[in-house]
Amino acid sequence: MLKVDRRRILQLNQAEQADGPVIYWMSREQRLRDNWGLLHARELAGENRQLIVVFCLVPSFLGATLRHYDFMLKGLQQLEQDLRNLGYRFVLLSGAADQVLPDFVSGVECGVVVTDFDPLRIKQQWQEAVARKINVPLIEVDGHNIVPARFVSEKREFSARTIRPKIHRLLPEFLEEFPDFSAAQGETGEYPPVNWEQVLRDVVVDATVAPVDLVPGEAQARSALDVFVAEKLGRYAYERNDPNSEAVSHLSAYYHFGHLAPQRAALSVAARPSGEGVDAYLEELIVRRELAENFCLYTSNYDSLDSAPEWALKTLAEHAEDRRTYLYSYTEFEQALTHSALWNAAQLQMVKTGYMHGYMRMYWAKKILEWSDSPEEALRIIITLNDRYQLDGRDPNGYVGALWSVAGLHDRGWKKRSVFGSVRYMNERGCRRKFDVDAYIKKWADRGFAGN
Ligand SMILES: Cc1cc2nc3c(=O)[nH]c(=O)nc-3n(C[C@H](O)[C@H](O)[C@H](O)COP(=O)(O)OP(=O)(O)OC[C@H]3O[C@@H](n4cnc5c(N)ncnc54)[C@H](O)[C@@H]3O)c2cc1C
Repeated sequence: MLKVDRRRILQLNQAEQADGPVIYWMSREQRLRDNWGLLHARELAGENRQLIVVFCLVPSFLGATLRHYDFMLKGLQQLEQDLRNLGYRFVLLSGAADQVLPDFVSGVECGVVVTDFDPLRIKQQWQEAVARKINVPLIEVDGHNIVPARFVSEKREFSARTIRPKIHRLLPEFLEEFPDFSAAQGETGEYPPVNWEQVLRDVVVDATVAPVDLVPGEAQARSALDVFVAEKLGRYAYERNDPNSEAVSHLSAYYHFGHLAPQRAALSVAARPSGEGVDAYLEELIVRRELAENFCLYTSNYDSLDSAPEWALKTLAEHAEDRRTYLYSYTEFEQALTHSALWNAAQLQMVKTGYMHGYMRMYWAKKILEWSDSPEEALRIIITLNDRYQLDGRDPNGYVGALWSVAGLHDRGWKKRSVFGSVRYMNERGCRRKFDVDAYIKKWADRGFAGN
């Protein structure tokens, strides 16, 4: 059995395991290697039981566009081929899991279903519904967090300061090498391959947000990690806040779609001689990312201002009537029509490439707060734009980043200012102290909004 079984693995219903195939209901961890859920399913299948990997494709998902579907489906296409090469069966079901999976489970007389951990509301709802509707166990495995989210803490943590020692205490045990994923033992039978071109044609999503150049899939994610570790990690501690410097990893979309296990990245980074690049990256990848997972797991309204800390809601309310020097609508923000060339450049970087540099995400969101009617409106605009254009959108990191920017989540109070109250403020002067703002503007500002 997996070394960390009792902690990583959670049974979501009371059903008894039966004979018959093992289903791995893949959701968030869309990869074959370094995947604790798939490894657990493989282990349950053993020598004699069939293992079937099932993915349930919904026709629309939380505002995802062609940019997201294209990336995900091309990644799944590679995955199907990789699974097939090892003798496993991949099935693509069309529809929400709670609607289509129970019938499939009973149709193949499956004995147990294993699935991924995901703290987002809709994923939790699907899991609960599936757990109720099937008469075999549904087992959740956390393949996204190095220290499993349900294990590191049983409550919403206050800040990085409170979760950090809990994570660090458990890391030596959990940051372990993955076992190999071995080929199928039993007979898998003939099965038809998925017609991916047809699937891509059939999805009804907004095609005005075009696919981007980033190549999806496990192999590509792994080589991007290798390049980062070899060429950029040494500069990460000092240059990660400079959007012109290219010292960050650009791995967030791979983590988001599960093409790369954060644990694989942590193992690669931790294997380098220790230094600030190593420490700084592990802090972001493990502590900050897992803090976001913790927040969404224990805060069902993680995308609402109501979930912000009380001190921040109070100070924002005190400044609700402050005059806004600039006020923009959603469309003006979307089309990068503000007075600020720097803000517009950040917006265009995101619209064109599906990625905005991390430092700019903070500045970008803070300015939406400053130039919107209310914090509620600002949060709505940030989340809508973020989820529409960032390839890594719809992620716990995004909801937490939005609330951090607008309402002091996981932060403390700062010097009082108009509109922000004591929520942390950022301005262009601060950016100019950190990096060459004009070079950044030059790079992105002449790429107009049209024709993304
Ligand atoms: C307003 C706002 C919106 C954001 N939206 C998203 C989003 O939709 N999806 C997303 O994955 N991240 C989001 N972030 C967090 C962070 O900005 C991105 O994870 C990071 O910029 C991704 O680029 P990278 O992989 O090159 O980062 P790197 O600097 O190379 O960091 C490596 C990894 O560490 C994690 N990480 C880095 N910074 C943070 C952070 N502040 N909080 C949590 N984890 C972090 C991410 O998994 C990231 O991929 C948002 C932040 C803000 C302020």
